[in-house]
Amino acid sequence: MEREVEEGDVLIRPYRYILAALLPAVAFAALTLFPSFGVTAVSSRSPVLSGIHAWTNEIYTRVAIYTGEEVEWHANTASAVPAQNLPPRIFVDIRGAEIDGDILHKPVGINNGLLQRVRAGRNNKDTIRVVIDLERDSTFRVFALPDPYRIIIDVDGEGEIPLPRENTAATQNPPAVSVDAPREPAILAEPPSPAPPVSRRVRVMLDPGHGGKDPGAVGPTGLKEKDVVLAIGRMVRERMARHNDFEVRMTRDSDVFIPLEERTAIANRSRADIFVSLHINASPSRAVKGVSTYVFSRGAGNQEDLELAARENGVPVARLQGVKFIVDDMFTGARKNESLRLAKTVNDAIHRTASSGRGSVANLGLKQAPFFVLVGARMPSILVESHFISNAQEEALLRDEKHLGKIADGIVEAICYYGRKGVFPGQEL
Ligand SMILES: [Zn+2]
Repeated sequence: MEREVEEGDVLIRPYRYILAALLPAVAFAALTLFPSFGVTAVSSRSPVLSGIHAWTNEIYTRVAIYTGEEVEWHANTASAVPAQNLPPRIFVDIRGAEIDGDILHKPVGINNGLLQRVRAGRNNKDTIRVVIDLERDSTFRVFALPDPYRIIIDVDGEGEIPLPRENTAATQNPPAVSVDAPREPAILAEPPSPAPPVSRRVRVMLDPGHGGKDPGAVGPTGLKEKDVVLAIGRMVRERMARHNDFEVRMTRDSDVFIPLEERTAIANRSRADIFVSLHINASPSRAVKGVSTYVFSRGAGNQEDLELAARENGVPVARLQGVKFIVDDMFTGARKNESLRLAKTVNDAIHRTASSGRGSVANLGLKQAPFFVLVGARMPSILVESHFISNAQEEALLRDEKHLGKIADGIVEAICYYGRKGVFPGQEL
């Protein structure tokens, strides 16, 4: 199995084809903007709306708009206009970007009960407008991630994402800023009544980090993080199969590259109850070792954690510092507290199981840092950093299948303990 694909996976334009699409896009844009010249030099660094990807189920959709380079944008809503047969809409206006001709005026139907379709067109000579036609009332959130620059819209049909503050003006984006998108009261509606609790298995989404072209951290003798975390993920899945009240899925089950925003989208779309991103740490100081587990926060407690988050996010530290996350309300209250509880449970368990046998493993504890892969997750979500691959001794441990089994044992034990504590609908207390 290459990777999990289920329910709607709508690819408006495959991201991997973006480079190939740049040339015709530029030519098309030049003709559109400057019809009397025919050919206009457009810098290869110009932002180009070159891809839109959507991940959906009937209560959740994540739309990613890829522009490569940073763009100025703002998001807003428009009420339904029944006379013109227009549904409620979310739109994102992007200034100063070109648009790939394959995307222009070619709406893509989604029809998942939440969204009708996504379409993009030129609103005026400076502005491209991406419009999401909604099927029904929903809340949404818009934010941007750098390198490559992409604008992410999370649409939530269950209203679980808290509504932004009242009286907020239409949001404008400073560079790479995450914003709360305002809603017009016109598209607000009574939230659907909550479904009655149905007893079902606890769904766990494991996310082995990196993969494909991204090896992650590499040890002194060449061991790759992407291979270790995939092995641990498979071991956890295998062990969890003995527990009938749990169901384990993985964002990847092979050596394949998956963008960070897609990993979160896979967990949300699958309605996972727990999201565990698996990683191995690394440090320029070869002496550093130990296990730690993270939850999302806007900032990091120290320089090492900031550097770690930058590395895991695939961006330079300076770039990460420029990202102003305004997403904390997604993580406040129960969800953040649950993530902290889950992280502590997992970290303590890994520390205990990994310390058996060959001697004690350092417990670096529970930490917080701005990991992109945790942004927008709808469930308790954590990122595990088990050992430092940069430390020769720990790299040797990570080559040892028996030791990886111990790490997996710790994760399984913690997930079972946490999952059976009654935090999920339909679970016995
Ligand atoms: Zn990693």
